[in-house]
Order: sequence, then C-alpha cells, then structure tokens
Amino acid sequence: MTRVFNFSSGPAALPEPVLRQAAAEMLDWQGSGMSVMEMSHRGKEFMSIHAQAQSLLRELLSIPPNYRVLFMQGGAIGENAIVPMNLIGRTGRADYIVTGDWSAKSAKEAARYGKVNLAASAEGSNYTEVPPQATWKLDPGASYVHICSNETIRGVEYHWTPDAGKVPLVADMSSNILSRPIDVGRYGLIYAGAQKNMGPSGLTVVIVREDLLGHALPATPSAFNYQVQSENDSMYNTPPTYAIYIASLVFGWLKAQGGLAAIERHNRDKAAILYDYLDRSAFYRNTVAREDRSLMNVPFRLKDESLDDAFLQGAQARGMVQLKGHRSVGGMRASIYNAMPMEGIRALVAYMEEFEAGHA
Ligand code: PMP
Repeated sequence: MTRVFNFSSGPAALPEPVLRQAAAEMLDWQGSGMSVMEMSHRGKEFMSIHAQAQSLLRELLSIPPNYRVLFMQGGAIGENAIVPMNLIGRTGRADYIVTGDWSAKSAKEAARYGKVNLAASAEGSNYTEVPPQATWKLDPGASYVHICSNETIRGVEYHWTPDAGKVPLVADMSSNILSRPIDVGRYGLIYAGAQKNMGPSGLTVVIVREDLLGHALPATPSAFNYQVQSENDSMYNTPPTYAIYIASLVFGWLKAQGGLAAIERHNRDKAAILYDYLDRSAFYRNTVAREDRSLMNVPFRLKDESLDDAFLQGAQARGMVQLKGHRSVGGMRASIYNAMPMEGIRALVAYMEEFEAGHA
C-alpha cells in the first residue's frame, strides 16, 4: 500500500493513525459487536462517542461554558442560510466582510433573509488581502458581523480577530478551525464544515453563544434551528454519526500532538518553507499580501502557465495529488491542513525546485 501526499482542499487528508484506528474498529467497535455506522444514535455506545467528541473539542478550543457546541448537517453552504435564519431576526440587518469567494457567497445567500450591508470588500485588490478594520463601515445596529477567517480558494487568512464591539462576530472557519488556538469568547458564533481539519464531510460544527439562541425567523426548519438542536443535544434529527466518530478520533489525535499551540507551530513551520521558496523563486508566484497569507491553503502560479499540465503530471508521478487550483481561479494550490506532514511539504518543494531547474 502506498499513500500519496494529498494536497486536496477538502475533503482532505486525514491523520493516518486515525484511519488505522477506524479500520481496526470497523467491524467491532470496542467489543460492541457493531460498526459505529450501525449504532443507534441514542444507544449508550454512540452517546459515549458523541460526548467524547464534544468534550475533546471543548478542551482543544477552550470553549467557555456559555457556548453550546452543535453537530449539524448541511455544510458551510447550508450555514450561509442557517446563520441568517437564526440570527438576523434581532434587527433584520447584518454586516458582511467579503475577502474572497466563500464570504461573497455567504453575503449573497444572507440577503434572502434580511438586509445585508457589505461593510468591507477586498474585491479592489482582487481578493489578495484582508481589508484593515479601520476601513470597515460597520452598522452598530447589525444583528451580527460575518467574516470568513480563511478563504480556501485564494488563500487569504485573518491573523487577527476583528473587534465588532457589542455586535456578535460570526466566522466561517471551515478551512482553518483547529489549526491554531483562538479566543472563542471573542466570537458570537463559529461554524465549520468538518472535511478539512476535522473529519469526513457531512458534519458541520457550530459553536454558538447561548444568548444568541431563540431569535430564529418563524420559517426556520426545526432541524436547522440552533435552539431546537441545542435543547436536544444535537439529536433533534439523526446526526451524522460516523463523521462524528471520526472527528472524535481526529480531536484525540490533535490532543496527542500537544493540542492547538503545538499544531500551530507545526503549521507555521510548514507554511514558511513553502512561502519562502515561492518568494525566492522567479518561476512561481503567490500574490497574497504577506501578512494575510493563509497557513492552510497556499495558491501559486507558474510564470509560464502553459507548463501547468506538465507540472501536475510530474507531481502525480511522484505521489503528490490534488495540486490543481480551484476551477474559478486556475493555477495551483497546496492545501496543507493539520494532517499534512512536514515530509509532504519537503517533497513538494523538492519537486518544485526540480521542475524549475528543468524548465528554466
Ligand atoms: N466556506 C469555506 C471557507 C470553504 O472552504 C468551503 C468548502 N470548500 C465552504 C464554505 C463550503 O463548504 P460545503 O461545500 O461543505 O458547504
């Protein structure tokens, strides 16, 4: 068996020990005689997995007690509607900061549920930076301010936490959750699809401050009502049980790595190797403002884009896959989430050097 270095943006590579444990437990989870997939979500076995996933996530992120953790479905695109359905009702208005494709999509969807104020946009820079907060035109009467903490497609990340004052800050953290410590108390709500840094697709994690519950628009589906899910311990409907199980293994793996401070150091070291090389090379380029570069998604272009296919084929032949950039922007993108080992980065840079030398 040969495993590739998988640079996919998501669903993305998972830690190998997690996959091995899941394989070992596939037919008989801890003497239960069943696969986790076959368990009743209300049975004691799955309830223990669910509780373990919740408590490990709380521990990793130091989630304060006045926040609820919900395990939902519908992904981050689902949350683009679910967030306004639950939160915009307080004043009917919300602020959106657009730093790329995903936050643009969030703002567009929210406009179906209330008045959306585009408080800042990086469109002018072709989405290569996070606009400084001093330039934001925030509405003090907004129900919330929405950001995307890491734009997966163009690789633009917040390395600071906006201050929205009394207005709750809402963040789509799909592609950088658990990559470093964050102060959850600075946010009103955090959401993330699991399939980059937490586990398989199908699970959406929502972390919400208690006082934001109870303002849902009347037409909100019950399964997507945060208060209903919170009152039912995320079991109002059948939760994505297998995805929650894998996430709990990933959380355990992260804890064993030394938690989020340790994984952040590792992620910084990995990204630095790649960006340093990109900056030294005249053959490749990354145009994101240095202070806003993503530690998780590193897009780059070959100066001569007619070589793109040859580059990708050579990478594939060396066991490095999914380096093609998003179809909307082209070029290349290396997604280097928590599970990407340092060896994967070294192998990629060695190949990039070799390719450059062969085509200079
Ligand atoms: N937001 C961000 C930041 C993403 O990276 C993605 C997926 N790439 C989405 C939203 C959409 O996620 P999903 O398709 O799971 O709804």
